Amino acid sequence: MEQLAIFGGAPVRESPIFYGKQCIEQDDIDAVVETLKGPLITCGPRVEALEEKLCQVTGAKYAVVVANGTAALHLAALAAGFGEGDEVIVSSITFAASSNCVLYCGAKPVFADIRPDTYNIDPEAVEKLITPRTRGIVAVDFTGQSVEHDALGEICRKHGLVLIEDAAHAIGTKYKGRPIGSIADMTCFSFHPVKTVTGGEGGAITTNDEKLYRRLMRVRTHGITRAMEEMVHPTDAAWYNEQVELGYNYRMTDFQAALLLSQLQKLPKFAARRREIVEKYNETFSRMPELTVQREIPESDTVRHLYILRLNLERLNCDRRQFFDAMYAENTCPQVHYLPVYWHSYYEKLGYGKGLCPNAEKYYNEVMSIPLYYSLTDDEVDDVIRAVRKVIAYYRK
Ligand SMILES: *Cc1c(COP(=O)(O)O)cnc(C)c1O
Repeated sequence: MEQLAIFGGAPVRESPIFYGKQCIEQDDIDAVVETLKGPLITCGPRVEALEEKLCQVTGAKYAVVVANGTAALHLAALAAGFGEGDEVIVSSITFAASSNCVLYCGAKPVFADIRPDTYNIDPEAVEKLITPRTRGIVAVDFTGQSVEHDALGEICRKHGLVLIEDAAHAIGTKYKGRPIGSIADMTCFSFHPVKTVTGGEGGAITTNDEKLYRRLMRVRTHGITRAMEEMVHPTDAAWYNEQVELGYNYRMTDFQAALLLSQLQKLPKFAARRREIVEKYNETFSRMPELTVQREIPESDTVRHLYILRLNLERLNCDRRQFFDAMYAENTCPQVHYLPVYWHSYYEKLGYGKGLCPNAEKYYNEVMSIPLYYSLTDDEVDDVIRAVRKVIAYYRK
């Protein structure tokens, strides 16, 4: 049998492929440079144009562009009115920011288990966690696949909850033909370089609710308003603005907005290439008994952000750590998404313990994300597959 690179054999490829990478082309660079030469480099026309573009892409009435995805979640949690004594149900397999935004507001995150096959929040698990203190849900479209909106919407209506959708992975995805961003009470996006489109940093919240929109706009800039009807001491003096609540500076620069406008034009081609790669992986891995392919629900037309390689450990003579290290030595550099949020030591200190979400914990021990991004070439995809095959052949029982 071919020896694994980790034990001194030759790796499948010479230079590493990482699990994600941005694609910045000359026209993206030109758009940024052009903006830097203009008179307004923050809070200018590009930010407004980006908000309009996001409304087009998501079908939402309003969009508020902010500094990053975490800021988007923070402002959404604030606008939802979460506070001391409230409970908010959160996906257990997500980036910590989905849950931290609840803590920022002084409320308590309550972790719901995932479905064992789609890895998205399980609406039945959510329903069981509802108490008289429950105020909302933060649900992540994990890997880009839409959450089960019909079931979650029903729960929210029945119990009067606010649904915040963490769509950091899901720009471009549709649920039953409706774009993500137009369905939940508020939907949060991230434009970090690893996401499908990037502004370097960046985020946005979309909503159809005018009241939420006004509040989000205000807390994005210190809680300061220029609208007389929002003032306690209204005056039409041109210089006057008034801080009416405690907000933040979560603004985005105009050159980041310019980059994002340019990137959003490429969303269709980015999405199509990601789809092609996912199909190739699925076709290959669904025939290998040592692997499980993520289940896709028919309601979601998914622009996939992450590809999860899930090991059937009972068929392998290794654990996830050994498999991961072997992939790394073969120069395919995976990542693990994610540690169940409540396993972080900070959450442990807050009193959360192991065993809360068995599906999430089992999932965590069996997975890694393998390369998926627009500029990944066919040869690189083949190398990733060769690395997976080689490691499986080595560890197969
Ligand atoms: C990236 C990400 C965030 C945070 O976004 P930033 O822009 O990095 O602050 C939040 N939630 C999920 C699920 C993410 O993947």
